[in-house]
Amino acid sequence: MGQFVLKGTSVSSGFALGPARIHATSGGEGAPRSIRPEDVGTEIDRFDAALARSEDQLRRNIRFATERVGAQDARILESQLQFLADVEIRDRARRNIREHQVDAAAAVERALAHFVRPFEKALPAVRRDLIQEVRSAWSVVLNELRGRNMIVESQPAVIVTDELVPWFATLIERGSVAAVLAEAGGRYSHGAILARSFGVPAIVGVRDLLRRVQNGALVAVNGDDGTVLVEPTEPELRLFEARRIARLEQRRELAAAAIHPARTRDGARVQVMANVESLRDLDGFDLRTVDGIGLYRTEYLYLDRLEFPSEDDQYNLYRRALERLGDRPVVFRTLDSGGDKPLPYFQTPKEANPALGWRGLRISLEMPDLFVPQLRALLRAAVHGNARILLPMVTSVEEVVAVRSLLASIREDFRAAGIPHREDVPLGAMIEVPAAAAVADGLAEVADFLSIGTNDLVQYLTGADRDNPRVGHLYDPYHPGVLRTIRDVARRAADSGREVSLCGELAADPQTTPLLVGLGLRSLSMAPVAIATVKSAVRSMRILDAGALASSSLSCRTSTQVRGLVDAFEARRLGFHSAGATSGSSPSEHAPRRDDRDER
Ligand code: PEP
Ligand code: MG
Repeated sequence: MGQFVLKGTSVSSGFALGPARIHATSGGEGAPRSIRPEDVGTEIDRFDAALARSEDQLRRNIRFATERVGAQDARILESQLQFLADVEIRDRARRNIREHQVDAAAAVERALAHFVRPFEKALPAVRRDLIQEVRSAWSVVLNELRGRNMIVESQPAVIVTDELVPWFATLIERGSVAAVLAEAGGRYSHGAILARSFGVPAIVGVRDLLRRVQNGALVAVNGDDGTVLVEPTEPELRLFEARRIARLEQRRELAAAAIHPARTRDGARVQVMANVESLRDLDGFDLRTVDGIGLYRTEYLYLDRLEFPSEDDQYNLYRRALERLGDRPVVFRTLDSGGDKPLPYFQTPKEANPALGWRGLRISLEMPDLFVPQLRALLRAAVHGNARILLPMVTSVEEVVAVRSLLASIREDFRAAGIPHREDVPLGAMIEVPAAAAVADGLAEVADFLSIGTNDLVQYLTGADRDNPRVGHLYDPYHPGVLRTIRDVARRAADSGREVSLCGELAADPQTTPLLVGLGLRSLSMAPVAIATVKSAVRSMRILDAGALASSSLSCRTSTQVRGLVDAFEARRLGFHSAGATSGSSPSEHAPRRDDRDER
């Protein structure tokens, strides 16, 4: 045995080996250093310079994350930038330097302590989330002040921290993170989402981590089963390396298996589709692994331009995407701007409550100059493949009817002008607004398909913004209210004979796949990185068991109970594999059966 083994809960899988680097986000950095009165000005300058460098660093991280893992996850880092912009903390830190004549790092620590004090009386979960996110942002400044951000690791290190918060993306950008270990953090916390997106192994809930692991200690991280070997012996290292290589081999197998369609053990077909934001995204993964593009977020075509793209620009882009996918569907979602996605060149009036404001289809319906060229481009491009049109932020049946009549008059113009186009492009409605979920039967009458957007649906059902640390803990996709809504929508779509898909973040979590399938979904659309593991999860379950899991979850009163059921289901699945019980139905188009314990 090495020095010792620690155990925690894995929130991002994978193996990593490297020296431990302690990066606590809170306190414990020794006594404040006094400064001389004549040095106050210099120290304030030093603080301002560190702040500016930190903001630059975070902006670089945002750009890097946008490129590597997409704009949606990059937005997580934007809230960090907002915390750095907090005038109260900035001013108080400067005042602390001036009045208490302490060094800038100590002044920031004091300012943070003052900032979080009012929240000490809040509920524990609120307090922890808020305090940790604020500290996460400011730890970038503290590291700057203490000269730690300057350290360029000679090899990627295992970050050892108190709370899994997003700041470690700073180090990912520098290529210096092998894995992250934390004493606390949740599976749907911002830090965990970023770790999974970047493919960095992460384990949370490791008790006494900071007390027991020394800076520089060699650490072997198994992000699949949540174990950490500290200072492993030679034989342990050899075993670890053998496992790591075997896992890589299994991942290759899993990726190879992913080109086959996904069926459950008892033969039910589940469509696995990809979410993309640009043509470039189509080059980032093996297109053979998907049944289609379940969500093409066209707003990104608008977001990185200086003016609205023309109809022809859009036609060319949509056409290229359709040609890449052949006869498989590409679901183009019309412009979903507003809310958290403002267009740089299109000023919408300032709103007190943008999430409940002018966004998505609401803008498109009022701006025909914007919407009609997009619809025209889509109908024309549809000649070149299997296009579908999806409407974001639908609230009522009338909105879909309005789009239908717009489409009808565009087709009439095309016919009159002899412009090639497609007559029968399916039109879908996103279910993101609770009222739309409640009238899913009505929407299914006027739309050809439905797509559940859980990112927004969960925020509107729980009344909580995931990116707001004060309430983020309430944003919980496992809330029984969320599950019941998904089940109702799936049922209403099935009763009307309409296809329904789910395209929010939830679809990318293989542990949740049985629950979603059990709730009645047979089509999931997700970030491409998740495709192989979700397909593997589909292959290892039976519809019968998934249905039982869903019906027990639907009768739960709390998300903790739901989580317990999902965890138990997962444990049984792993037990099934480790017992080698791989017999059972094996339809011919199945990928070869294999143990995928290590793929999660
Ligand atoms: C959703 O809300 O779940 C969704 C897929 O849309 P977006 O994340 O683009 O808002
Ligand atoms: Mg949405």
